[in-house]
Amino acid sequence: MNAADRAHEAIGRAQAGDPRALARLISQVENAAPELRAIARALAPLSGQARVIGLTGAPGVGKSTVTAALVAAYRERGRRVAVLAVDPTSPFTGGALLGDRVRMQDHATDPDVFIRSMATRGHLGGLSQAAPQALRVLDAAGFAVVLVETVGVGQAEVEIASLADTTLVTVAPGMGDAIQAAKAGILEVGDVFVVNKADMPGAQEAVRDLRSMIAMARRQADDWKPPIVTTVAINGEGIGELAAKVDAHWAWLDSSGQGEARRRVRAREEITAIALAELRQRVGGLPGNSRLDDLAGQVAEGKLDPFTAADELAAADPLADSC
Ligand code: GDP
Repeated sequence: MNAADRAHEAIGRAQAGDPRALARLISQVENAAPELRAIARALAPLSGQARVIGLTGAPGVGKSTVTAALVAAYRERGRRVAVLAVDPTSPFTGGALLGDRVRMQDHATDPDVFIRSMATRGHLGGLSQAAPQALRVLDAAGFAVVLVETVGVGQAEVEIASLADTTLVTVAPGMGDAIQAAKAGILEVGDVFVVNKADMPGAQEAVRDLRSMIAMARRQADDWKPPIVTTVAINGEGIGELAAKVDAHWAWLDSSGQGEARRRVRAREEITAIALAELRQRVGGLPGNSRLDDLAGQVAEGKLDPFTAADELAAADPLADSC
């Protein structure tokens, strides 16, 4: 069996609900395995169906509780749901991390829920390269909804937003979260705002703060107006309304053409990230890169300017170097 056949076979098994085939495919695309290109080719015509919901917010506001509640809500509607938990601070990847998270235990035995954590520290190409490929796998495997959650503290929040069709920004009363959200620049990327822990004092103030900050963020007249939903995620209160707002945003993405526009922006970012990573790998001062050594010598001696050298390096045939 050649690489293309193997990729089609693995995807077929993932579509049929084999979690191990699915996990393996994600590992392969994440780790840029030799099979990556064959898999990517096989995935291309199968993707574009899933809706990706990104969840951002400071640690402790209840993101994973909201995520678990949304999983339950979508399962009630009969959808297959995947959760991708991205941890920019951890070097560990795989299923275990998130499996330990208490809120997700309810879904651990449901074959139509797939949960996966992805660590991006020290990852070649980082989140920008690995996560979109993992999303393509989940999409092709038939998950109608993919929830992408950031775990831990990190700068990945805005990056998460760039992966998602709909970005939820969650805050909790007190904690000055709303202000932090503004600082982190996520006010601009939020499509739906969630004031979780509405059972705690200060929820209405948080709603007010957010409302005035959203009003200040510059948006066009026909832009989507981000709603604010209050939830008590621990008991599911407000989650139905949250899912309804997400639906409304999806409908707006379709009718306004913004969904298509966002997909194109994402594709551009994806192509650029791949091209840059390849270029970096090709020119990145690999010990065996004799062409770079040669050019470095010439530049150091003043025989060549660094711009011309860089042009030559970028245009060099990567295969010529390995012999
Ligand atoms: P994350 O770090 O943002 O993912 O937050 P978690 O989902 O782990 O929640 C942090 C803590 O807040 C946990 O102890 C949750 O049980 C609690 N929590 C989550 N949602 C609510 C809520 O609506 N009300 C209250 N009172 N506590 C909540």
